[in-house]
Amino acid sequence: MTIRHDVLIVGAGLAGLRTAIGLAEHCDVAVVTKTHPLRSHSVAAQGGINAALGKDDSWERHAFDTVKGSDYLADQDAVEVLTKNAAAAVYECERWGTAFSRNDDGTIAQRPFGGASFPRTCYAADRTGHNLLHTVYEQALRLGVTVYEEWFATSLVVSGGRVTGLVALELSSGDVLGLASRAVVLATGGFGRVYGRSTNALINTGDGCAMALRAGAPLKDMEFVQFHPTTLYGSNILITEGARGEGGVLTNSEGHRFMGEYAPDQMELAPRDIVARAIQTEIDSGRGVDGQYVWLDLRHLGASRIKERLPGIREICMHFGGVDPVDEPIPVQPGQHYSMGGVHCDWTGKTPVKGLYAVGETSCMSVHGANRLGGNSLLETLVFGAVTARTVAKDLASTGEPDVTAVEDAAFRERERLQGLLLRKTGSRPTDIRRELGPVMDRLVGVFRNETGLTEALGRVRGLQGQAQRASLGETDREFNYALVRALELENMLLLAEAITLGALMRRESRGAHWRTDYPQRNDEEFLKHTLVTGAPGALAVQYTDVHLGRFEVKERKY
Ligand SMILES: Cc1cc2nc3c(=O)[nH]c(=O)nc-3n(C[C@H](O)[C@H](O)[C@H](O)COP(=O)(O)OP(=O)(O)OC[C@H]3O[C@@H](n4cnc5c(N)ncnc54)[C@H](O)[C@@H]3O)c2cc1C
Repeated sequence: MTIRHDVLIVGAGLAGLRTAIGLAEHCDVAVVTKTHPLRSHSVAAQGGINAALGKDDSWERHAFDTVKGSDYLADQDAVEVLTKNAAAAVYECERWGTAFSRNDDGTIAQRPFGGASFPRTCYAADRTGHNLLHTVYEQALRLGVTVYEEWFATSLVVSGGRVTGLVALELSSGDVLGLASRAVVLATGGFGRVYGRSTNALINTGDGCAMALRAGAPLKDMEFVQFHPTTLYGSNILITEGARGEGGVLTNSEGHRFMGEYAPDQMELAPRDIVARAIQTEIDSGRGVDGQYVWLDLRHLGASRIKERLPGIREICMHFGGVDPVDEPIPVQPGQHYSMGGVHCDWTGKTPVKGLYAVGETSCMSVHGANRLGGNSLLETLVFGAVTARTVAKDLASTGEPDVTAVEDAAFRERERLQGLLLRKTGSRPTDIRRELGPVMDRLVGVFRNETGLTEALGRVRGLQGQAQRASLGETDREFNYALVRALELENMLLLAEAITLGALMRRESRGAHWRTDYPQRNDEEFLKHTLVTGAPGALAVQYTDVHLGRFEVKERKY
């Protein structure tokens, strides 16, 4: 049986659902998601969403902060679209019912965030993503969008040079089914779980990026991985930048507030790459506590402010760290947080492969360049969800019917492949391989990188790819076979780990989140370029493409 829709969206986070809402009135749109929509990682976003609402603020200032924050690698045309449409995106959600925190006069409250020259981050306490995702999901339900819940998309189907549908595994039955469509939008989120220490949900394995690469779409700027400065020591759960926005300070084992030495003007509210490197330097220089972490101190804010503005953070600290931030400082260390890179596309959502679009964290348009500013990515999902919906709707007018036979053939081949995987008796367990991958990426492709480490990482990742090809699951059940899902995710993660490492190895400069100790300077002459990765596992190739410059001149980045 082949299912048919005009448009298939893979991913039911904010980006996928906002795109679906935009398309629902134009065509028959369906969303495929490997978890319930409300378990998408968007739900975990804490700190807020940026928009220049203040009368002394402007979209131009927001655009400048974003471009400077990106270390000038962002495409300025895309940033302009993001920032010009920010206020409308926030007000749209407010009208749909998002419970934003308020000022005394009833206007939407805004807090300061890293790298921003104005307090422009709108928030719903420290549960902004939770509020937004519920709002957007309600709207998608109201419009009758079809949702294939707990369906794992395994591959895209390409016929005659265009994407004509996809193949997915229905988790409850174990059936492998073909879904034909005239367009596919990838909205599968980030790939943080390639790393061991990550704030990301366990489902953030970059399936969409891997599927796109296999279908011939390049991946862009994969080496730019954001490490959040403050993740809770032990579990690496995120402690929002909002905690520093509210006035939290960082101290080392000597009780010294060290940010003065790294970013004297913006201190704790310098952009994330700078604060993460500062913390890692303190730890590496022997001024970390137990050689592992530093303190984030909120005590001076007082119990009532902490309880009102950061209730979720307090709970996380008490339940997962055994500390109450009202009385004690929080132990924090940097951890992987966001994937700046992703599927190469322009700001309208189009990839170079006909019929294939990408949006949200899985895409690289690129609005974040070498370093994303906090609060800009929730915004990206909503603004570009709407934009991508318009692009797809327009393209559909000149798109014929999908090639159903090609989809059926692809589903048949995938069924055979998965059956082979299920029946294999010998080989390592995918979970063991995944456990090895994380620390390799943390240690060798982390906050600080160099040629020796990256070369070692590339060898290790390629070795793990070989092991994964021979892996055995130990679970032959058809229904809800999560061992199979983990194995498919692992294949994807290993492909992306190779792309990240290769991109990092080839980029012989330091820019934004990518810091090479052997090339500590930014090198605009050679590398004011986007990296594009293409090819197959074990044999990926790197090319470069121009950055779209614009109104803001490329300058040295100081805070
Ligand atoms: C802890 C945390 C806090 C954050 N806080 C903020 C913040 O305060 N402000 C901010 O701007 N940004 C924040 N971010 C970043 C922001 O939340 C994300 O970038 C954004 O929500 C991503 O949305 P998305 O729709 O692109 O992807 P997601 O919300 O990650 O959704 C991905 C979807 O894809 C589906 N999917 C994936 N693979 C498959 C597959 N193979 N088959 C079928 N479905 C699949 C999943 O089921 C899911 O529905 C935070 C991120 C984290 C991790």
